[in-house]
Amino acid sequence: MKKNDYLYLDHAASTPMRDVAFEAYKQTESVAFANSSGGHELSRKAKNILEESRDRIANHFGAAPKEITFTSGGTEADNWIIKMPFINNQNKNAELVTSAIEHEAVLGSAEWVESLGYKVNFIGCDNFGVIKTEDVISNINSNTEIVSIMLANNETGVVQPVKEIAQSIKKLDYDLIFHSDVVQAVSTTKIDFHELGIQSAAISGHKIGGPKGIGIMFLSSEAKIPSFLHGGKQELERRAGTVNVSGVASLSAALDEQQKNMELQNNKILKERTEFENILKNNLDVMIVGENISRLDHVSNIQFKGIHSETLMVALDLQGLGVSRGSACASGAQKPSHVLQAMKISDDLINSHLRFSFGWSTNSGDGVKAANIVLSSIQGMK
Ligand code: PLP
Repeated sequence: MKKNDYLYLDHAASTPMRDVAFEAYKQTESVAFANSSGGHELSRKAKNILEESRDRIANHFGAAPKEITFTSGGTEADNWIIKMPFINNQNKNAELVTSAIEHEAVLGSAEWVESLGYKVNFIGCDNFGVIKTEDVISNINSNTEIVSIMLANNETGVVQPVKEIAQSIKKLDYDLIFHSDVVQAVSTTKIDFHELGIQSAAISGHKIGGPKGIGIMFLSSEAKIPSFLHGGKQELERRAGTVNVSGVASLSAALDEQQKNMELQNNKILKERTEFENILKNNLDVMIVGENISRLDHVSNIQFKGIHSETLMVALDLQGLGVSRGSACASGAQKPSHVLQAMKISDDLINSHLRFSFGWSTNSGDGVKAANIVLSSIQGMK
């Protein structure tokens, strides 16, 4: 197998950088490498690129530029929003509401909040992996500071009723922040934060063809959250630290291209995923998670009955197909997926799932090629 014959179907874990993103990174480093907080011409150049990128990014999400803060990624944005309201909170009865199927960035933050002694309500999901609006609402009370529900799950691609939840929360008229981790949804969905009805969101650059280590924290101008990183006065005095201007410019260029081509990109991805899933359904005993409900176009979480996912993943890798068992952390740790557990997938089937995820770099024919590799690998395992 030649190196570039390797078929990458793990875009939900990370996407390759788009050419425009590489170019923007290189260009910014060469002409505007100076510290964007400085007082000379090169600093002003960097500052201009930073603010122009912020304007363009905000525009893609229907937000005001001042509602966008750059972070080191989705994990930092989730940690910031979820933890900070609980630090030195005078109300010892303050509560957090989140779900059992969130990404580790949210779950880990929620567990940390719990370790401080605050009450955290973890909402379950149904057997399809969908969180019910009424379960979220019935766990909210006047002590609730933050509600955090992801827009779409990273392991299954199943879309959550965030807009409906936002509308129901609004009717309660409590003073709380509704946060949504939209990191995975952003890969194949157009999102307007205000229209969705959320007050904060986390986004990651490397899920849309931008670089790793750069992300966005959206915080509605009506909401207030204390700073997470203290020091310099960068990012409207909200986040200290020299800003990664080249990363921001690169993320912005990736986002421009992604948003411009989203329909075309999604049609291509969906065609490949459909061909892939059809071949598997016609030849194997498989169950596709979320097949008949609202699901992100790029994710295909498949249960292969009677086959251990770890063994299959290794066999696929040897045949030149890179996939994952779920989220990157869970696959490294080899524990059963917390998402599939929440969906009450039985113990004998929980380790039979693999996630195939398509993306902007997927080519025509990749779906059929991947399905044939799966069939021949399973044949070889018998
Ligand atoms: N949230 C979700 C849903 C994700 O899929 C990921 C990445 O896997 C993250 C958060 C973390 O983002 P980052 O890698 O930028 O820290």
